[in-house]
Amino acid sequence: MGELIVTITTWDKPNYELFDGESQNYRIQEYLIDEPGMFCRNGENETFFDQNMSRKDGVRILFNLRIDDGRQFVIGDKDQIEDLWIQSKNEQQIRQNDVIKLGKKVLKVLNISNENNLHLTHYQNVVIQIQNVETSFLESQNMCRICLEHTCNTSNPLLSLCRCCGSTKYVHYECVKTWLYGKMQAKQSQYCTEINAKSVRCEICQSFYPSMVYTGDNVLGLYNLDNLKYHVVLEDVENQIIMVLNFGDQTTLTVGRGHESNIKISEITISRTHLALVIRNNKLYIEDKNSKFGTLIKLQKARRIEKNETLFLQSGRSRIMIKHKEKRKRCALLCNFLE
Ligand SMILES: [Zn+2]
Ligand SMILES: [Zn+2]
Repeated sequence: MGELIVTITTWDKPNYELFDGESQNYRIQEYLIDEPGMFCRNGENETFFDQNMSRKDGVRILFNLRIDDGRQFVIGDKDQIEDLWIQSKNEQQIRQNDVIKLGKKVLKVLNISNENNLHLTHYQNVVIQIQNVETSFLESQNMCRICLEHTCNTSNPLLSLCRCCGSTKYVHYECVKTWLYGKMQAKQSQYCTEINAKSVRCEICQSFYPSMVYTGDNVLGLYNLDNLKYHVVLEDVENQIIMVLNFGDQTTLTVGRGHESNIKISEITISRTHLALVIRNNKLYIEDKNSKFGTLIKLQKARRIEKNETLFLQSGRSRIMIKHKEKRKRCALLCNFLE
């Protein structure tokens, strides 16, 4: 299984997880690891605990190292507490539910597809899920607060979607769908449509609208953006913005702060051209463009450290380099020689 050279560089001051190579305020510790265990942070210091040592309370696990059935080291699993990010140095495949970080911006990959139909109803993590709503088919009594009409039928019922009551209680299914469609398209450029998930709520009572509604026997979706072509859907986790990327005939889109990037994100910690997204054989790849603070992918499940692989990781104030190397057979050779 070889051994690991683990180099941990920790910045003295809070660096907001942005690693500035020009700063001098850091210390470096190096370890040679040939057994499973875990790296922990105890106040200012990192310590390696092998399996026989018991960990004190209040000590945080930076990451742990196991040995798998194939006698290889594996990093990160269910005990992982602190966010552990892998720095993407070479082109790397990205899959649905991966979380990437560029500068301070965190983006979650909601979908990768070459279909032409986008139903935001799929993204129930963003907005409230299916809800049973009060539905009215009584034309004489109730009216839609958008069009002020009383007419309704099973395909276009009047819905009570929020806490509003009285004359603002009901909206037509078709009316609210059109209104939402207009509201959600916050920004549109050639390659990207941004949809603000926060705007999916009633303007009067502020309650969020469900993404789908039950109306007796029917299930109706409220956010259908059928006419948007797309390949990749990202979520800006902090701002609840959905980014629908449209590759068109291109196979590569660049992302960065500068105008020269296809997809522009105004965030000071993002480089002018930070990364490229590449579609090849219906798969999505990410490639860092020598950005200042790097492109990181969150480690969300255990990952094997391959033979002679070098991994670059980040966790809190630390940068971690793990280098695998075959164990030198000096001892065995020496023993043979002595015999
Ligand atoms: Zn209406
Ligand atoms: Zn309301």
